Amino acid sequence: MSTFQEHHLDNRLLRALDDLGFQETTEAQKQALPIIAEGRDLMLSAKTGSGKTAAFILPMLNRFLLDERCGCPPRGLILLPTRELAIQTQKMFEKLAAHTDITCGLILGGEPSKPQLAMLKSKPSVVIATPGRLFEHVGNARIDLSAIAVLVLDEADRMLDMGFSETVDAIVAACNKERQNLLFSATLKSKGFGRITRFLDNPVRLEIDSLRDGHSQISQQFVLTDDDRHKENVVAALIAEEDAQHVFVFCNTRLQAQKVSNMLSSKKLRACYIHGEVSQEERKKVLERFRSGVLQVLVATDLAARGLDVKDVDLVINFTVPHSGDDHVHRIGRTGRASQEGTAITLVNSLEWNRMSSIERYLKIRFTPRKIKGLEAAYTGPKKLKKSGKAAGVKKKKRSKAIVSKKSKPKKKVRTKKR
Ligand code: ADP
Ligand code: MG
Repeated sequence: MSTFQEHHLDNRLLRALDDLGFQETTEAQKQALPIIAEGRDLMLSAKTGSGKTAAFILPMLNRFLLDERCGCPPRGLILLPTRELAIQTQKMFEKLAAHTDITCGLILGGEPSKPQLAMLKSKPSVVIATPGRLFEHVGNARIDLSAIAVLVLDEADRMLDMGFSETVDAIVAACNKERQNLLFSATLKSKGFGRITRFLDNPVRLEIDSLRDGHSQISQQFVLTDDDRHKENVVAALIAEEDAQHVFVFCNTRLQAQKVSNMLSSKKLRACYIHGEVSQEERKKVLERFRSGVLQVLVATDLAARGLDVKDVDLVINFTVPHSGDDHVHRIGRTGRASQEGTAITLVNSLEWNRMSSIERYLKIRFTPRKIKGLEAAYTGPKKLKKSGKAAGVKKKKRSKAIVSKKSKPKKKVRTKKR
């Protein structure tokens, strides 16, 4: 860790950090600040909650304060995959820029264009945007990106996952060629980064404790469960046992998220859900209610919750085992943020055991078993375990040759894509 003073930040920024109560840099900030200050391009991956937002906003502000020449703004552009992340980033920006004249404006999809065009006329120094709508404005010549000196792609891997690759390409092509590029991502190994990295100029690559390390402040547990009905009762019991005031429950499908949320509400818990099909307006409202404590439980799908910085989540429950180790890390990243302690509990039924075991191996940890009195599952775990921790299955019977006709050759084994 280091102090912010060591990074030669403008006094107006130090004051803002003081207001926020940030005393020391996080590791990601400590490593990123000097590289960005040098003007180098940077690709950085660090686990969720490691303070990446301030790691790119602070040096951007510092640079614009040092060099107050005003080419025609905007001079900074921050691209993010979702509205919620963009709004969150704007909030951090405004706090960090509070004692300066540097302004920022938001460009988001799902909202009327008119106010955004009015905002652009006011010439904000920095634009924070989701790619789709910004691309429209670029296409209609409503925004001129030719003076962009610093371009940030935050959650770049997610942006690609969501199919924004070509849109981002087009936006980048409209930016000033002499700019600094900063790319932030949960992992630097994503396929298809090739396209985006084309735009980077000899970037420094920083991987600060990779996504799978460093969640030691989170207690990771699992509960054996049966069907969804049983899981629902377990969720309610866990929230009561933990006396948790801020709970995230993760589901794999939209329908499941809705069902679980309704069930919790019927048990008199203050719960609501967000997923990709909930309108933007509604999502914003739900998040505000969760942040302010009006809601106690937020049930979400992975996409809807990715990257959201909701403070003080004391319990994360995986209603279903996530599809991949990275999804798991993103889910549990909601708790134990900025070195606080947290608890993450995964509900596992017989069909999900092996998936949980893969995630444990990926993270190189073992989840601690937890039982709830009176709600023990009929499923007691695999009878025998392989060395890997997976269930040792009963060998599949070979198909009798007599039944397999020549025409219906057994199909080639289809490998499921690893996500
Ligand atoms: P990431 O983008 O890496 O997931 P965020 O930028 O959202 O992380 O930051 C996570 C949390 O840590 C936020 O609540 C933020 O206000 C807080 N934070 C960031 N930097 C510091 C710091 N230097 N000291 C204390 N808290 C910080
Ligand atoms: Mg972030």
